[in-house]
Amino acid sequence: MIDTHAHLNLEDFDQDRLKVISSCQEAGIKVINAGIDYQSSVRAISLAQEKGFYASVGVHPNSPSEDPDKLSDLIDQPGVVAIGETGLDFYRQPDDATEKHRQRELFLSQGQLARRAGLPLIIHCRRAYPELMLLLRRELKGVPGVIHSFSGSLTEARELLHLGYYLGFNGLVFKQDLEEVIISTPLERILIETDSPFLAPPSINQSRNVPYLGLRPVVEKIAFIKKVSTVEIIDLADKNAYHLFQLDKHE
Ligand SMILES: [Zn+2]
Repeated sequence: MIDTHAHLNLEDFDQDRLKVISSCQEAGIKVINAGIDYQSSVRAISLAQEKGFYASVGVHPNSPSEDPDKLSDLIDQPGVVAIGETGLDFYRQPDDATEKHRQRELFLSQGQLARRAGLPLIIHCRRAYPELMLLLRRELKGVPGVIHSFSGSLTEARELLHLGYYLGFNGLVFKQDLEEVIISTPLERILIETDSPFLAPPSINQSRNVPYLGLRPVVEKIAFIKKVSTVEIIDLADKNAYHLFQLDKHE
C-alpha cells in the first residue's frame, strides 16, 4: 500500500521516527512524505533516500513564503516525486486580501516549477475551491496532480475530476460527509492517504495518526461506500499512485 500523503518528516515524529518507519515497512506501506517548507522538504528527501520512501517538496500555504530558487534546487534529488504540498488555505484569514495574494503567488510559483520539472502537484485546499479552480484553469492548465484531503462540495469534486485531477481521501471521511463525493469519484481517480500526524481515524484510539494504523480504516470506508472489496481499493489506489507520481521511475 502507498500512503500518498504523510508527514513523517515533521517534529511530531522526532522521538520515535525509526520505530514508526519500521512499523510501516512491516505493514508493507510505502509513504510519500510531503514538505511544508524548505527544511521539512529536505527532511522528506533524506527519508526517501535512506528508507526507500518518496518525497514531495513544497511550501504549504500556511507556511511563510520561501525563495522559489531554493525549492527548485531540490527537485532533481532522487526520490522526489511531486511538488507540494502547496495550494490555498483561506480558513484562518478569509478576508485578508494581502494574505490571499501571497498564497496565490506562492502556489503559482510552485505550479510553474511543477510544469518545468514535469512533476505532479500535491495540492492543499481549504475554503478556497473557487479560487483554486480558477488558477488551475487559467494558469496551470495541463499540470497534473492531486487535491489531497479533499473537503469540497460534490460540484467542486466533479469540476476537479473534469479538469483531470485525482482526489485524495484520508481520515476526514470520518469527520465530514464525503459519501456522495466518493460515489462520484471514479476508482481510477482515487488516492488514499493519512496526512499523518493529522486526521487520525477515530478507531485507532490515538490523536497522532500513523500510516500503519491510519491507512486501512480509510481504505475500508471507501470500499464500503464503493461496494467493492478492500483488496480492489488497495490495488487501484496503488496503481493510481504509480501512474500519477510515476513511481516506477524512482525505484
Ligand atoms: Zn499534509
